[in-house]
Amino acid sequence: MASLSEFFSHLHTLTIIFISLLLLEIVLLTRSVIEITLKSGKKSIISTTQYLRHVEEKSPAISYSKKSMGQQECAVCLSQISEGESVRKLKCRHTFHKDCLDEWLQQCLATCPLCRAKVLPDEIVAKYDRVQSQIGYDGSDEEMIFMLSALYGNSLQRFS
Ligand SMILES: [Zn+2]
Ligand SMILES: [Zn+2]
Repeated sequence: MASLSEFFSHLHTLTIIFISLLLLEIVLLTRSVIEITLKSGKKSIISTTQYLRHVEEKSPAISYSKKSMGQQECAVCLSQISEGESVRKLKCRHTFHKDCLDEWLQQCLATCPLCRAKVLPDEIVAKYDRVQSQIGYDGSDEEMIFMLSALYGNSLQRFS
């Protein structure tokens, strides 16, 4: 009989842990749903890091070589590009310092400083709200996942 009551008390503990976990998840889920609703009301936003990742995908940074690329001038800072400097060559074949172009794309427009050719698709540019990004958007979702995994980790330790 002792083992039976022990079993029930164990079951009781397990139930309490599961219910509290369930409640926590419901709270977190509701919070994230509210956040998503609020965000989609404005339009979804990408951070500067994500924005620059798209730039990198479209026009990867390369090391400048005078031999293969010819003498080039960066139209943003108006100086000649030196051997080995990090540059981006856009689809329109215009070349700029990587840092100069990234700064331009963040502060001004998502177009080539020389010929205004589009550097990124419109839907990505629309998502990048320059004012919002300067305030700083932190990945609150990642924080939430971390919290959940920490909680699960703790309770799993308790079971074993
Ligand atoms: Zn430059
Ligand atoms: Zn161009």
